[in-house]
Amino acid sequence: MKVDLHNHSYYSDGFFSPAEVVKFAYEADCDLFSLTDHDTTEGIAEAQIEADKLGVELLNGVEISAFWRNMTIHIVGLGVDINNDILQTGLAHNQALRKERAEKIALGLWRSGIKDALEKTKSLSKTEMLTRTHFAQMLISEGYCKDMKSVFRRYLTGKKPGGVHVEWKSIDEVINWIHAAGGKAIIAHPFRYRMTHTKIKNMLNDFKGVLGDGLEVVTATSTDEEVSLGNQFADKYNLLYSCGSDFHGWPNQRVRIGGLRDLPNLDNAVWRYL
Ligand code: AMP
Ligand code: MN
Ligand code: MN
Ligand code: MN
Repeated sequence: MKVDLHNHSYYSDGFFSPAEVVKFAYEADCDLFSLTDHDTTEGIAEAQIEADKLGVELLNGVEISAFWRNMTIHIVGLGVDINNDILQTGLAHNQALRKERAEKIALGLWRSGIKDALEKTKSLSKTEMLTRTHFAQMLISEGYCKDMKSVFRRYLTGKKPGGVHVEWKSIDEVINWIHAAGGKAIIAHPFRYRMTHTKIKNMLNDFKGVLGDGLEVVTATSTDEEVSLGNQFADKYNLLYSCGSDFHGWPNQRVRIGGLRDLPNLDNAVWRYL
């Protein structure tokens, strides 16, 4: 069974439309697929139309920015009712934080001599949503950096010119939004937070303590060691397993939809509990 439950369209920081993304899932023979844009479900209606046309099984999803001990982490909500008011009020809050942040990022870049960052970045986005990925792509296309890795490091993090501190809502609130909408809450890409393994385990312990449901055990960039550790951690904290490529589709990115290795054990697969 081919499953990919973490993917982006241009309703957040992906390159392609929701319909195009669903088409990739169809071409890759995905049996179950989810569109999980950052802090918005706006792309799902379009994705659903294409999914119905092609016979792809689409699960409603969203990737929500949250705070755990003053660190930003990403919680994927799967199987959510996108008409739920509690969820949509929460997402609207995050969208407002993003708008404010985009202005602050542009101001920081302006102070370091990069003019018109907001206008140039907006012209690169096909929707209202502005993410750091858009700023990164703008800075690359303007020749300030050659790749995503260096642009984040040199411009968009910490005390760098476009590094802006955002206080997202805490994990328990975000889990509540997802549960209110009938979905399952999954910690995304656990090994991408620059945390030690001990810290990751503390995070998972706290996450389970506030009724979080699962862990992304397999992503496109996971190493064998990470899959095996993710598997162990999920078992230790009694979390369901999820898998998703975190596809964004920009020309300089290599991840492909539906190219994930199998989960270590399907009994605990999150889709069996939705
Ligand atoms: P935001 O949610 O607007 O802060 O943007 C975060 C997004 O930027 C993530 O979801 C990734 O898609 C992307 N991102 C963050 N750090 C990096 C990095 N070092 N290289 C490439 N993409 C990154
Ligand atoms: Mn992203
Ligand atoms: Mn993420
Ligand atoms: Mn993602």
